[in-house]
Amino acid sequence: MERERLYRTEALILHRSDFGEADRLLHVLTPHLGRLRLLAKGVRKLSSRKAGHVELFSHVNLLVARGSTFDIVSQAELLEPFRTLHDNLERASMTYYVGELIVRLTEEQDENAPLFYLTLATFDRLCTARDPLLALRYFELHALELAGYRPQLHFCVVCQRRIEPVANFFSASMGGVLCSHHKGQVEQAMPLTLHALKVLRHMQTQPWEQVAVLRLNSNLHMEIETLVQGFIVHVLERQPKSVEFIHRLRRELRENSLKEQLHKTRNTTQEGVSL
Ligand SMILES: [Zn+2]
Repeated sequence: MERERLYRTEALILHRSDFGEADRLLHVLTPHLGRLRLLAKGVRKLSSRKAGHVELFSHVNLLVARGSTFDIVSQAELLEPFRTLHDNLERASMTYYVGELIVRLTEEQDENAPLFYLTLATFDRLCTARDPLLALRYFELHALELAGYRPQLHFCVVCQRRIEPVANFFSASMGGVLCSHHKGQVEQAMPLTLHALKVLRHMQTQPWEQVAVLRLNSNLHMEIETLVQGFIVHVLERQPKSVEFIHRLRRELRENSLKEQLHKTRNTTQEGVSL
């Protein structure tokens, strides 16, 4: 049976890179065709009308022509540009990270419709959420689950006994929580506070609306981030590249805000003196 020469698909643009003189290679996620690499021809020319429709992080409808090496974008219709993701470097870096995780967790052309809709919802949440870090953690936990790596948060991964509501331990290599009896039997088990365990369970089992209302202090955020990202590094056998960028950015933002505060204090003091 001969395949159709053209096909239509909805897509999220996760990554773009220059290709040849005027073309771009797009990494996209689709609901029914999985992750694809597509060629967008001529989009780097100023006169290209297609260029605006294949912007990074946008949600589009594509008409695609089958090609020998890469399939080729023939038409693109913009559904949602998610412009807020470009306005703010912190949110942009988180969205890059979402794209990188998808690329590392999935094979090309592996259909995963729930992952597509989770990612679409995550792009929206990263634009609108009061606490975008919560949206990012929620994405990580559910993307891991959809890729077949659901962390065990209810039963000890060694003895399978139900975890008591006390401080416990988490092992990235065993993929879940350890009871207090078995913490010593697994190398590199990390302590897990009861509060963090409750938040993780809540994220794993509740819809986003129930998670968006949580207010986490920075220590709790840090504990959960360290734990989930430790698990991701174990699953991927490497640290995602964009994680280092997010950390560096966060350090710089913190330093700048300290400098700003210092500057303000100094100005106020000087004004005080001159009065
Ligand atoms: Zn145990």
